[in-house]
Amino acid sequence: MNIQEIEDRYLIPLYAKRDIALVRGDGCFLFDENDKRYLDLTSNYGSSLLGYNNTNYNQALKKQLDNIANAHSSFYSDTRASFLKKLHSIIPQEKSFLCSTGTESVEAGIKFARIATEKTGIISAKMGYHGRTMGALSATAIPKYQKPFLPLVPEFKHVAFNNIQDLEENLDENTAAVILEPIQGENGVIIPDKDYLQKVKELCEKNNSLLIIDEVQTGFRTGNWLASDYFEVKADILCLSKGLGNGFPVAVTAVTKEVSDNIPKGTHSTTFGANPLACCAGLVTLQEIENKNLLNNSKEVGNFLLNELQSLESPLIREVRGLGLMIAIELKQRVTPYVRELQEKGVLVMLNGNIMRILPPITISKQEAEMAIEKIKQVLC
Ligand code: PLP
Repeated sequence: MNIQEIEDRYLIPLYAKRDIALVRGDGCFLFDENDKRYLDLTSNYGSSLLGYNNTNYNQALKKQLDNIANAHSSFYSDTRASFLKKLHSIIPQEKSFLCSTGTESVEAGIKFARIATEKTGIISAKMGYHGRTMGALSATAIPKYQKPFLPLVPEFKHVAFNNIQDLEENLDENTAAVILEPIQGENGVIIPDKDYLQKVKELCEKNNSLLIIDEVQTGFRTGNWLASDYFEVKADILCLSKGLGNGFPVAVTAVTKEVSDNIPKGTHSTTFGANPLACCAGLVTLQEIENKNLLNNSKEVGNFLLNELQSLESPLIREVRGLGLMIAIELKQRVTPYVRELQEKGVLVMLNGNIMRILPPITISKQEAEMAIEKIKQVLC
């Protein structure tokens, strides 16, 4: 049996497969088992932020592995301390819970909001994506994901994204928190009005409710450390993951000191979260972003890609939108055949219905962006 046959034989068939087996990566390129090269505009669903085979990242992780891979959070760890110090020099929240995946960071955020406010209501946006465990799925208001698993966690309400009036009508004194992506990713890079999140925060404050901002996908790729910086809003609870570990599972639920003061000891935990290897991955990723000025690269190459894609003349394209290196090309029809053709031409993009999503490593160069545009042009124009 070959690689594909073995996986198909043993894995529960939950994923639509892409028909290639990835065996190695270098920079923004991935290579399959036949050594065919692909320009990776997916960064593994937004996680391989620095691309592949980054020397400083690899060396740091190998060294950490030789020292110690795991140390439970009930013990102190030098690497964890260094990571926390760096992380909190970047984000505005004062305290963190460290875990492993985006869904877990959301799940913790929902629990922290409920316990800190002693209230139960949670409001999220329709078609937003926050993960698929029962709590996170209750916030993920996408009918096709929720329907097979009803009933979900009680007291979740869903409002239209970027519609302050709908939120005003649903937010009340029982609302523990409003959870939102600052830019809806899975739904096709939907960017709200510049003042939407500030207005949401004001409404939350009026009702003694918390604002949870889910930056699992937007974190570190929109040209600022956080998309919250672009919208000039501070979350009471901030969820981070994906790019933070550059491919290694690292996640954070960061909270204000006030929220942290109201979370009693022993009310949440994880065995693997905050392990030194994960903390090392997080630390070196943040250092690389800073030392190589990669936020600026996201801005510059992101603007270049967006402008070039917006100027493509194609009867297939409905709209191109984005911020930094988070871009969607919305077609008038399903994208599957075009994504397949791009893959044959050596370019990988993400797909969902009519949306082609581009989330490349933030190390992508202008030349690589030009290569991507050329191939996309060949397929769509
Ligand atoms: N939140 C957002 C905004 C996401 O985009 C995702 C994943 O795509 C998640 C949460 C869930 O993260 P994970 O798949 O790491 O559990």
